[in-house]
Amino acid sequence: MRIDVTKPVLPALEEYVEQLKDIWDVKWLTNNGPKLKELEAAITQKFELDELVLCSNGTVALTLALLALDKKGEVITTPFTFAATATAIEAAGCTPVFADIDPDRLTLDPASVEELVTENTVAIMPVQVYGVLSDHERLSSLAKKYELPLIYDAAHCFAASTNGISALNLGDMACFSLHATKLFHTVEGGGIVCHDPKTKEKLKRLTNFGISSPDSINLSGMNGKMSEFHAAMGLALLPYLDGIVDARKQVYDAFEERLKRVEGVRFLTEHFVDQHNYAYCPIIMEGGEPAVLDVLEKLQKYDIHPRRYFYPSLSEVEAFSQCKSNSPISESVSKSALCLPIFPELELSVIEKVCEVIGLVAAQNNAQKALK
Ligand SMILES: *Cc1c(COP(=O)(O)O)cnc(C)c1O
Repeated sequence: MRIDVTKPVLPALEEYVEQLKDIWDVKWLTNNGPKLKELEAAITQKFELDELVLCSNGTVALTLALLALDKKGEVITTPFTFAATATAIEAAGCTPVFADIDPDRLTLDPASVEELVTENTVAIMPVQVYGVLSDHERLSSLAKKYELPLIYDAAHCFAASTNGISALNLGDMACFSLHATKLFHTVEGGGIVCHDPKTKEKLKRLTNFGISSPDSINLSGMNGKMSEFHAAMGLALLPYLDGIVDARKQVYDAFEERLKRVEGVRFLTEHFVDQHNYAYCPIIMEGGEPAVLDVLEKLQKYDIHPRRYFYPSLSEVEAFSQCKSNSPISESVSKSALCLPIFPELELSVIEKVCEVIGLVAAQNNAQKALK
């Protein structure tokens, strides 16, 4: 059976059907309906968030957060991320500028950001890549110094926390994704966390074309609404969340135990959180791209398919070739990074096969290096 980097989790079918019955009863299908409000309240309460607006997906969440700023210009971000971070910046009428990543955290390096701040900069958008948290203290003091909003792409850090605070509560706004491939999902979905009711109201309005009352449209928004069917999936799945994180932790621990001391492989043991979410299981191959390709090819024979998250570095893709960048570390790390399969109930035999192949490739690389 094909093993991919992730496998979506679903609630028991009856539990989803239970949720659907309520929708059939009230016949309210979308537009800030009761299921959506219930899911917003449940997530807000679970993670003690200030204010939350759910929307149609994570890319729209990022776009709406930027639209809410009412500023057009450059947004400094990391190129070591999924394409959506940069496409959302462009969708909001802004221009991505790629600063480099910190080699330990793999998240946006504050020093590199500062080098790229100009009078055209309108926001800083770090990405909590793999659920590893950015240096929030340094980024927020930088944001304060230049009077720039700090908007997190928190797509990877649902259920992660630092010093007892949800990672979603950091920054002026934090945007997350509830896509089927993420740790927790509503099939398609996303959300924006902010810290005051006025911004929340504005974000809500932006998800609904900017309409403020039946006869008044005072913002240029879009259709960013989450439907009742999507919210229903979230409500049915939410009781499973803690179990999902625990099950992923077991898989993660099994990989860590086997890989953390393998020469030529860097396993990320520090996530700068007090509660990690185990959403991804990345490794960095010291043998670089040839080693990564070798592992992929060897595992393909067993129908096991790790993913090159994130390759290529967005600073090197055609779509963003016009964007300013200074990101050699991102470019090098993206060639060497590989995300291993991680999802609840991944079999130990698969974990062992993956580790065996990685160990073999690393040993070959180490031997070659010793010869040089
Ligand atoms: C998944 C993801 C997004 C986009 O979320 P969608 O819900 O798929 O639109 C944005 N940023 C990062 C880092 C992601 O991994």
